[in-house]
Amino acid sequence: MDKYKEKIKFPFKCPVCGKEEFEDFDWLAEEENDDEVEVYKIDTISGEKVRITDPIEIYCVHCSHCGWMYDLKQVVDHDAVGDRNEKTVNELRVEYRQKIKANSKYNFDDDNSKHNPHKCPVCGEYGFKYEDSYDVCPICGWIDDGTDSIPSDNYSEVNAISIVDARKHFIEQRSQDPQYRWDKEQQKKKIKI
Ligand SMILES: [Zn+2]
Ligand SMILES: [Zn+2]
Repeated sequence: MDKYKEKIKFPFKCPVCGKEEFEDFDWLAEEENDDEVEVYKIDTISGEKVRITDPIEIYCVHCSHCGWMYDLKQVVDHDAVGDRNEKTVNELRVEYRQKIKANSKYNFDDDNSKHNPHKCPVCGEYGFKYEDSYDVCPICGWIDDGTDSIPSDNYSEVNAISIVDARKHFIEQRSQDPQYRWDKEQQKKKIKI
């Protein structure tokens, strides 16, 4: 990854559509072990390197306009097949142009927002079916507002807490009660009232 970073000026524009700007996602670091690519993120609070095993989390960084997946190798080489994109930047450009021709308002995220199963970013146990579904996670109580799709911004206005703090809170609850579930806790509260 670092060999590509040297050749890129951050922030850079999406190599396919040029509409979205990307920062250097420091939280995402890749290490190549022979042919296996391992992906890590740097925990914003502890600074620790955490291995990402959930492919949904790895693949979340993309251009909302054209759907290009963040891949530094492809920023440098437009004819390279990326680790995340099956097609080259040049091929994707042709496809994107066709989509815009057919529908000038084409937007990847709008077209794909309906169905996008992803794990709860706080407890990692519950699966939300749709992107920005605003469903409440029954395990930890997190409201699915899409904060997890913006790596640099983990504070959620809707939840009035950051993902990092919500995780800490959830871990605390679980250490006190290994069976803890947010919805069960709400039921108990209702009975008391
Ligand atoms: Zn794009
Ligand atoms: Zn949850």
